[in-house]
Amino acid sequence: MSMIHIDASQGEGGGQILRTSLALSMVTGQPILLDKIRARRPKPGLMRQHLTCVTAAQAISGAQVEGATLGSQTLRFTPGPVRGGEYEFSVGTAGSVMLVLQTVWPAMLLAEAPTRLTLQGGTHNPMAPSFHFVERAYAPLVRRLGAAAELRLRRCGFYPGGGGEIEAELQPASAEGLQPFDLTERGALLSQHAECLIPGLKRSIAERELEVLREQLGWAFDHSAIPVTRQNEGPGNALLATLRHEHVTEVFCSLGEKSRSAETVAADVARQVKRYLGSTAVLGVHLADQWVLPLALAVWRNGRAARYTCTDVSLHAATNFRTIERFLPVQISTRTLPGGHGVEVTVAMAVTPKGDNAA
Ligand code: ATP
Repeated sequence: MSMIHIDASQGEGGGQILRTSLALSMVTGQPILLDKIRARRPKPGLMRQHLTCVTAAQAISGAQVEGATLGSQTLRFTPGPVRGGEYEFSVGTAGSVMLVLQTVWPAMLLAEAPTRLTLQGGTHNPMAPSFHFVERAYAPLVRRLGAAAELRLRRCGFYPGGGGEIEAELQPASAEGLQPFDLTERGALLSQHAECLIPGLKRSIAERELEVLREQLGWAFDHSAIPVTRQNEGPGNALLATLRHEHVTEVFCSLGEKSRSAETVAADVARQVKRYLGSTAVLGVHLADQWVLPLALAVWRNGRAARYTCTDVSLHAATNFRTIERFLPVQISTRTLPGGHGVEVTVAMAVTPKGDNAA
């Protein structure tokens, strides 16, 4: 099979191009050559978190790999067949384990056997999905496609200490295969609640954050909004808001850090919630850029097109759309909805099936 050559500095030019390319290389068996990896970032090339994604992808697919070193801007990756089983990967820093999961999960959907993954590192990181987001928002949608999954949070891990751990039991798609579906209605609002993770820090910080949310969103809180710290959790602070609708759950998160006041953290979550509630679109901005990949897999396997609506299509999402189209014979199109109600994204089989897109 000829190699797909990806210029990883295109579009948003960040680590997502790497993760999506690794995922779809494993799924389709197509080798990849990536260059200019994270070329426009202050510290270009592979960081520890990206390197763990490569190592994990290599382990589950027995890939031949060149260029997997810290700071490398070029990577060759030739996958073999994906093997389910038991795996353990450690980022070695507070880098996000959720992004490692994001890299390997698509391949596990089409593996022949179930997988049990243990991942160590950061579970609540800036610019990455939090554990709670993946467990409550993303995983239920993947299950609805037809692949069971259970995620467990053993320990939270925050920057800079890391030390978090999660477990994921990922089943391949059921015998009927992945079934694409539309997500164009949220359905009724079933519940909304906030919680504040605050291991190793003063409880009063959590109380201030929750109080600001009460003022800005009118949400009432009970004591369970500040969960008990698990054993061996390092210091950190994540404020989470979860909105459960009939057809979708969204989770918004903001992280505390030394120079960031509790009020700023809470105002950030309130802003995200108001933005979502001010629209009728089903997915928020982050779920929109992540959902497209498993959905595109289902469309490719099944042939039936599917749509979803989202509050925004970020440059990050648009870059992901174009990367997916390099690997799968699908076309991802967008249409702005009237009345400022977001964007509709349609994933359909491409009219002319694509070749290998060889360089
Ligand atoms: P960079 O190269 O920019 O340093 P990176 O490898 O750290 O990149 P990005 O390419 O920015 O990561 O991708 C981050 C991923 O995390 C995206 O899938 C994005 O949707 C997701 N993400 C970021 N913030 C959130 C959030 N608050 N909730 C859920 N997902 C998030």
